[in-house]
Amino acid sequence: MDEQHIGRTLADWFPERRRDLPWRRNPTPYRVWISEIMLQQTQIERVIPFFEAWMERLPTIRHAADADRETLLKLWEGLGYYNRVINIHRTARLLRDEHGGNMPADHSGLLALPGIGPYTAGAIMSLAYNEPHPAVDANAERTLSRVFDIEEPIKASATQKHLRHKAAELIPPGRARELNQALMEHGALVCLPRDPRCRECPVPGACLARKRGVAEMRPNKGPSRSITYLEAVVGVLVHEGRIFVQKRPEGGLMPGLWEFPGGKLRKDEAPEEGLEREMREELNIGIRLGQPLAEVRHSYTSFRVLLRAYFCSPATDPEAIRLTAASESRWVEPARLQDFSFPAANRRLVAKLSALTPDEIADLLRA
Ligand code: SF4
Repeated sequence: MDEQHIGRTLADWFPERRRDLPWRRNPTPYRVWISEIMLQQTQIERVIPFFEAWMERLPTIRHAADADRETLLKLWEGLGYYNRVINIHRTARLLRDEHGGNMPADHSGLLALPGIGPYTAGAIMSLAYNEPHPAVDANAERTLSRVFDIEEPIKASATQKHLRHKAAELIPPGRARELNQALMEHGALVCLPRDPRCRECPVPGACLARKRGVAEMRPNKGPSRSITYLEAVVGVLVHEGRIFVQKRPEGGLMPGLWEFPGGKLRKDEAPEEGLEREMREELNIGIRLGQPLAEVRHSYTSFRVLLRAYFCSPATDPEAIRLTAASESRWVEPARLQDFSFPAANRRLVAKLSALTPDEIADLLRA
């Protein structure tokens, strides 16, 4: 089977197994763009409600451009990797101001936009405009690395280039939209990481890795990434029944999100000791320590965090607070915390806090 034959077979197979996903119903460049950014590092089932809520609130590029940052962050809350949504906002404003509110219909024009790399540009070109550009996501990578038995580490830039080249060769004339989705769907539903369903595969005879008995060894993921383990502590600072939150500054990680003050524990530092230090460093105040609120474990791509949260109250006049790690702060009633956008680990604390009555919080302030 040559490349064109494999490509046609996969494109013909796609309608049989095509899942009905909201962004596939009306694949405009805007809808493809937003869905592809949401789908980075996130599973399809999880993305669907976020995508539907986003499109209901911000149905066009102009709506996304005209909305304020807080609105976009709130719609994104829970998807993580917040730089993605900040880039969407920047790009939407650039498209409104310089492109008449439309996405460019050329690959290099798309690549010039913030947050759009070769994969997303290829996805918009092929899925929205049906132009012959490759779009190789992790699922398509798996199928391609097996069909062509690609041994080299999959994330190496030379391998990525080779994969895009092979994917481009498969595109039958006028069928880029079908072929690219077929590759993704085939990897997601048939060519599974373990126990690939080769009996359901439309191209088993063309699969070199299967023929050589090495399918499960592809793709070659290279050396495994080392994971760093961190411990952190945050303070739920309470004064007159309201809780202190601060906003992360521009230019750092997760800018514009709200959080409880605190930070990483130093080596051999007790959580209570670390919290008092963090409050002095971040807010310039001393505290009276209360009861623990919760321990939350959270995983990021290359590190794991154990976050401990404690109730506390200012030991001095709260007017003395001076922010050193935030752009602004608020004192918020527990029931209103849900109105703010928090990173994932803090959001789990918010869920616990929102359920507490003022009397329960007063009790928990007692050490
Ligand atoms: Fe994947 Fe099996 Fe098909 Fe090869 S034959 S592409 S391993 S499903």
